Amino acid sequence: MRVIRRPISTLAVLAGAALALAAAYLSLAELHGSRAAAASQAQQFAISGKLEQGGWIRGHVPDGTVSVSLDGQQIDVTRDGRFFAAFDRDAGASATLAARMADGSMVSQSLAIAARGWNIEHVNLARHNGAPSEAFMARRRPELAQINAARAVHADSDGWNQDWIWPVKGRISGRFGSQRIYKGVPGSYHSGLDIATGESGTPFVAPADGVVVLAAEAPFTLEGHLLIIDHGNGLNSAFLHASKLVVKVGDVVHQGQYIGNIGMTGSATGPHLHWSIKWRDARLDPLLFVGPMQ
Ligand SMILES: [Zn+2]
Repeated sequence: MRVIRRPISTLAVLAGAALALAAAYLSLAELHGSRAAAASQAQQFAISGKLEQGGWIRGHVPDGTVSVSLDGQQIDVTRDGRFFAAFDRDAGASATLAARMADGSMVSQSLAIAARGWNIEHVNLARHNGAPSEAFMARRRPELAQINAARAVHADSDGWNQDWIWPVKGRISGRFGSQRIYKGVPGSYHSGLDIATGESGTPFVAPADGVVVLAAEAPFTLEGHLLIIDHGNGLNSAFLHASKLVVKVGDVVHQGQYIGNIGMTGSATGPHLHWSIKWRDARLDPLLFVGPMQ
């Protein structure tokens, strides 16, 4: 089997140089901007996104691709060659995209994943005391079963391929990835982005198209009125602590559609929207999907 390694920048330069020789009347800079990119695109991955921990990429596979993997894990590819992949909060410094071609050869591309400076706080307190009570677990088990069942649903949606919008605008009151270390013992990190508007009842909207896979009518012990939306391709959003949900399981929702109201149901010290995003098992930073709040 033939393995071709193509670091993207080197290839672009080589392709640019080759074309410059063939067409000496055009400057190399012009070629870089247009012809080089077009000429090399078909034989390699074309990707855009956020190559960092908690980030994501979207792109096109090389022409003639039969299947694609990220670090050996199979990735779904649409009929027209589009794909999505993402990098967990604790992802390593590099990842490898590999496409198997119809003739059996491989095209692989190494991705550098930038490390993030997570907000880590050391506190001189013992981590909470002991295992949860049996009474708590009796309530918790069926909730976890519902969450796991919802995440196992693979809805048909193109939300993963859209430019996302903020579900609500307000003060960022908690960042994804933040973590406390209790006398040397790490607590679990904050799995989402908290947005507060200073009151309960503020409406929030779907950041992208999707299908509702969980809408807790009775508040869950920790998440309260929990809403999970599947955006297709293994990508989903969860919204916690709502005071009200206005959609139900199976509903198709569109980007910008009103889906619920902010609250403090479940375990919350004040009204806010906790928004978390997962791709398969990877936990992602919502900030990297929407950018700065305008
Ligand atoms: Zn939160």
